[in-house]
Order: sequence, then structure tokens, then C-alpha cells
Amino acid sequence: MPTRPQTISARPERAAGQVPTADPQGTAAPESPGFVYAPAPEATDHVRLRDRYALFIGGRFEDPADGRHRLTINPATEEPLAEVAEAGPADITRAVAAAQRAFLSWSRLAGARRARYLFRLARLVQERTRELAVVESLDGGKPIREARDVDLPLVAQHLFYHAGWADKLELAFPGAAPRPLGVCGQVIPWNFPLLMLAWKVAPALAAGNTVVLKPAETTPLTAMLFAEICQQAGLPDGVVNLVTGGPEAGARLVGEPGLAKVAFTGSTQVGQEIQRTLAGSGTRLTLELGGKAAHVIFDDAPLDQAVEGVVDGIYFNQGHVCCAGSRLLVQESIAEPFLARLTERIRRLRVGDPLDKNTDVGAINSRAQLERITTLVASGVEEGAQLFQAPCQLPTRGFWFPPSLFTEVAPSHRIAREEIFGPVLAVLTFRTAQEAVERANNTRYGLSAGVWTTKGSRILWMADRMRAGVVWANTYNRFDPAAAFGGFRESGFGREGGPAGLAAYVTLK
Ligand code: NAD
Repeated sequence: MPTRPQTISARPERAAGQVPTADPQGTAAPESPGFVYAPAPEATDHVRLRDRYALFIGGRFEDPADGRHRLTINPATEEPLAEVAEAGPADITRAVAAAQRAFLSWSRLAGARRARYLFRLARLVQERTRELAVVESLDGGKPIREARDVDLPLVAQHLFYHAGWADKLELAFPGAAPRPLGVCGQVIPWNFPLLMLAWKVAPALAAGNTVVLKPAETTPLTAMLFAEICQQAGLPDGVVNLVTGGPEAGARLVGEPGLAKVAFTGSTQVGQEIQRTLAGSGTRLTLELGGKAAHVIFDDAPLDQAVEGVVDGIYFNQGHVCCAGSRLLVQESIAEPFLARLTERIRRLRVGDPLDKNTDVGAINSRAQLERITTLVASGVEEGAQLFQAPCQLPTRGFWFPPSLFTEVAPSHRIAREEIFGPVLAVLTFRTAQEAVERANNTRYGLSAGVWTTKGSRILWMADRMRAGVVWANTYNRFDPAAAFGGFRESGFGREGGPAGLAAYVTLK
């Protein structure tokens, strides 16, 4: 298996299960068997990145004490974008101290005043939305269409939504005298960098807490632009502190004395480490971890819409989605026609330049993630599943993986059990609704699930029985700041969004 899978032939004549071979040409333009699209690159002349970004502590940009920086690159080209500070222990202690000082006045500020700051942040995000969307796409590899139409609108919505709660906490928790907790240490992943920041920062600030947040090491840039936005909004110094760096910085932050709460989104393995670190400390903890969602298609489902839902469920954001519908369960009676339609649709996905407005699937976020996907796909082939990959030509530089689908998958295969976090779908079948539920729940995760059927009663029956924090019916990947999101079992605990998310940031009588 080559480290960089390139042009993939998915023509029917290719031997089933054959591992893709590298394209010697390796041209940059994706090819679709459908329409030929002219390039439609998003303008980037409005984006001004600095060569180097410092830490954001106490309202000011400060160089790290030991002067270390890390390069962040564009995963679509491997070209450097900027150097970003690597926070050391002294910097993190300083950031927590700044947040503690800020807490004294921020927590006492009237809710309506805190709301004003949050509204300002939301409006500034909207004003700078084109710039933020381009930087998100450049730094993370996601298609500009998604950054522009999904990530950024949701970031603004989360800030607006929580601005609305800031002066109504008594209504959210009637008679329970909600009080802020203190300083919150927050660590986020790289798949939705600014959106995960908004999910963490907005409820914390609305409830009167201050934060020290560590972005992921491969996608720190929109957080640094958010630091500028905090300054633009005149947010009091120290209410939001941003410490960039790698896993060591994350581990240091969550272990800092002086934190009232830790909120983590990332892998189950790291979530478990954090849980061990904090055991017995009294520090509150919420964990939003991995997933291996079942996407269930019944034989009465509207098939064309379901195909779109399945494609959105697994290929959105290159499958770098914790709630991705990565296990497709199709009712046996329609498996053949459904898979024919699905593979036809996958052939037409446009893979390539994330900044092209026609691109459906962008770059894999990092070399390490590409290696993980490649290893797991190779394991699927070795274990006997049949691989189908979209017939696209992948660029020669950068990190790419074609939209992929496995049939003849056994529930015991690694590709059916482990989170791949890439554009790879494992297809299984079922005969009865009961069997669908058993297969859906046959996982150590429990974050999300999807069901497609025209029968309303069956939707409710399935939703009742599938052990997942979110169940979408006849749609997939829909988010709303008013709706709680979170998992069961190894997908973590605690909720983000809605009053349940807010509850994680207050003490109640
Ligand atoms: P990761 O756990 O490796 O890293 C996440 C963050 O934690 C990064 O900022 C990283 O620097 C930091 N970190 C790493 N080791 C640490 C440690 N020992 N202590 C403290 N911090 C540490 O995960 P990732 O690869 O960045 O993200 C992908 C994972 O995130 C997937 O498993 C995905 O399912 C999950 N995720 C979950 C949700 C959700 O809401 N449930 C949302 C997005 C992503």
C-alpha cells in the first residue's frame, strides 16, 4: 500500500479488493465522468496571514517564554502558511493566571453586558467570514464550499445563540441559582477548528466563565484570527486566552491547577488519558470523543435522497467528522440497486483543490492522518472486504485520499469497528429492523446514527433503540446550536449546545 494513494481506477473491470496503484502522471485536476467544470477558485487577496503568530494571553499577543514555534502548512500543497508559537509550561501557567484575574470581574458583569460582547464577537465573525472561511480551508484542507456554507454560519450561530442566554440564565435553570464555575481549560481537534472553538468558548463566556483554549497543532490559524476579533470586540483582557501547541501543551493545560473545568474534544484515547489525569481532582470534565455511526437505509426510503444523505454523511469534510455515518447498513432487499446508485454518485464527486468552489472532497488534514487512513484501508483489503474507490486523479503534492467504499464487510473487520476518520464507508446489510438495531449498536461508540424510511413510527422505534447521542431521520449532519450534541460510552459524556450544553458551565443549587 503506497503512503500516498493516487489515481484510483474504480472501473468495474478492476479486480475486487485490489489495492489502488499510484498514478505515474499524478495530475492536479480531478476528473469526473459527468460535467467538465472550469476552475472556480475562491479569491484569496483579502487574506493577510502574518509570518508568525504569538500566544494570546491577557488580551495581548505574547511570544512563548522559550521562543519555540511550529510551522503550520497547507495540507493540499504542503507549503508553509505561518509559524505558530509553541506554548511551554510557563506560558500556560501565565494564561491560566490571566484567566483567573479576568474571572473576578467577568463573572460579576451583568448578563446583558456579557451578551453585548458575545453579540459583537458574532457580528465580527460574520463581517470577516470570507477571510475566516479561506483560512480554515487553507490550514485544514476542507472544501471552501463547506467552510463558507457550513462551518462559518454555524460559528456565528453559536455565538449569537449563547449571547441570547447570557442574561437569561435564571430562565434556563429556574430556581437553581446558576453560577459560573471559574477558569475553563479547553482542548479542541483539527476537523472543525473554528466551530469547535465556538462550541467551547460561547457557552463558557455566556455563563460568566473565562477560558484558556488550545487549538489543534495542525489548524491553529483561525483561532489566531479569533484572537484578533476578541481585541476588535474590546473583550476584557484575559477572558479568552489562546495557547497554541501540540499534545504536550494540551496535557499541560488540562493538568494545570486552578482550572474549574476541562472540556475536551478529540480522540477517545486522549480523552481517557485526561480522565485519568483529572480523577479525584474535583475539576469538572466533559469529553466529546470519537464515533462509528450507523447509517441505516430501509427498503421504503426515498433512494435518491438517501444516496445524497449517505454521501454527505461520510464524504463531508473528507470524513474527518466525529459523527460521520461511516457504517452503512442497507436492507438486503435493496442493497444491489442502492449500491449501484451510490457508487455512481461517488464517481461524480470532485476531489481536489479545497479552494475551488466546485470541490466536493478536499485534502486530508495531515500526513499522519493520511497514514492512519491508508493503514486501515489496507487492513480492510487484507481481511477480505471489497474496495471501491472513486476514479479521480489526485494532485501529486499534498495529502489526498479518494472517496472509498467497502462491501463484503464483516462486523469483526477493523474497518467496521475502528474510527477511520477519513472518506471511507463500510457497507453491511440487514434483513429486519431488529437486526439493524443490533448491528447499529454493535460498537463501543455511541455518538450519532441515521435512519432513512418513510414510516414515521419506524423512525421513532429505531431512535428509541439505537444507542447514540444524536439520531438523524431522513437527513444527516444537521447541526443547530439549540440542540444538544454528545455521546454515550466511548464517545464521551456531557453535551454541547442547547441548555444541556450551558449546564456544563454552571453550578446549580
Ligand atoms: P487528538 O485526541 O489526537 O487531539 C485532539 C486535541 O488534543 C489536539 O489539540 C491535541 O493537541 C490535543 N492532545 C493530544 N494529546 C493530548 C493529551 N495527552 N492531553 C491533552 N491534550 C492532548 O484527536 P484529533 O486527532 O485531533 O481529532 C480527531 C478525534 O476527535 C476523532 O477521534 C474525532 O472523532 C474526535 N472528535 C470528536 C468530536 C465530538 O464532538 N465528539 C468532534 C470533533 C472531533
